[in-house]
Amino acid sequence: MTHPSGYLTSRLLSGIPGLTHAFSVRALGDMRADAARRKFYRMCMDAGDICYTAGQPHGTAVAVFSGNGIPGQSDLDRVDGMVADRSQRASHGIFLGIRTADCVPILSYASAGIIGAAHAGWRGTLGNIAGKLISRMNDLGAPAGDIRVVIGPHIRRCCYHIPKDRSDAFRDAGYGDAVSHAGDGKHCLSLETVIMRQLNEEGVAAEAIERYPGCTACDRGFYSFRRDGHEKFGEQLNIIGMRAGESE
Ligand SMILES: [Zn+2]
Repeated sequence: MTHPSGYLTSRLLSGIPGLTHAFSVRALGDMRADAARRKFYRMCMDAGDICYTAGQPHGTAVAVFSGNGIPGQSDLDRVDGMVADRSQRASHGIFLGIRTADCVPILSYASAGIIGAAHAGWRGTLGNIAGKLISRMNDLGAPAGDIRVVIGPHIRRCCYHIPKDRSDAFRDAGYGDAVSHAGDGKHCLSLETVIMRQLNEEGVAAEAIERYPGCTACDRGFYSFRRDGHEKFGEQLNIIGMRAGESE
């Protein structure tokens, strides 16, 4: 991942005509603030493009933007994932945005111009939001073998201490390799380990997945809910979109 203009991009999703994506960083501001968000949009999007954001209730529902239309805000408020095909892009580009401050942003793309974005905290990861995102892309006509996925900046095993009951829940679900002991009776979780397996089980090969190596809680270049606390945390915004009128 590189920093062309202050935000991060992935090698795997670069150089694709019409496709734009970006992971914001702390230096670009708290994306809950309108001014910071507008500035980030101006950096990444054309005038007239629209970025849709999900309510992210820590579930596993995925909204679909297709020939049936654009989901309403009340529908988007109930989802943690979104997928879109090209059918809505005659007049403006459609962008999908995911807010994070330690949770995992997942961005995805298939060559038919199908895009996806999901938010995966521990609940959504345990519920397999990543697998559901891929499945909805399959429904829109993207075979798993054609899907590329980027797992963006999030809190990693080094800093993600969890209570024992949560560790047990992941172990019971068959993800024992994702949890470990940190000493002091502490349990640690690698969300990425779980998500990688879920993506592989949907048929996405490891070579088609790029992973940001850093940790939001270790690296002060990111906002982190765990590190900064309730009072001081901010949010990153992670977006993917196809510009209007681009040919494939
Ligand atoms: Zn860390």
